[in-house]
Amino acid sequence: MFGQNKKLAVAVTCSDWRLHQRRVDFNSRIGKEVGCGRVDMVVLPGPDGLLLAERAGEWAAAQAQSDLLAKAHQADVLAVIAHQRCAGHPVDDHQHEVDVVATAKALKAALNFAGPAYALVATYKSDSDWGLKTIGKY
Ligand SMILES: [Zn+2]
Repeated sequence: MFGQNKKLAVAVTCSDWRLHQRRVDFNSRIGKEVGCGRVDMVVLPGPDGLLLAERAGEWAAAQAQSDLLAKAHQADVLAVIAHQRCAGHPVDDHQHEVDVVATAKALKAALNFAGPAYALVATYKSDSDWGLKTIGKY
């Protein structure tokens, strides 16, 4: 039944190899969390740090890439997925939850996106075992 879900999400997430192992199954899990059977990935280090002034160039690139995919694939949902113990945005667990919400809201606004933007955090259990928690939907 899940494979019949043709809704599509554009997900901005981290490059960290630990998230992209077969056993973590990150793409499918993001899709299930946001109700989409298809997930495009925009991948860069520390996505919830994109609003920092020194990352303006990366932020512009991530917006352009997300916008291209959202329009080409008629996306239903946007998502920004932070993760704990992130080298690309090395803040504490609470700050990831704050920053991922700000980034998800900013991405929705920047793209003038009509659908929901989810803020998620992948929670650390071990390098090969991650939880996935929804912080909010905006
Ligand atoms: Zn990371």
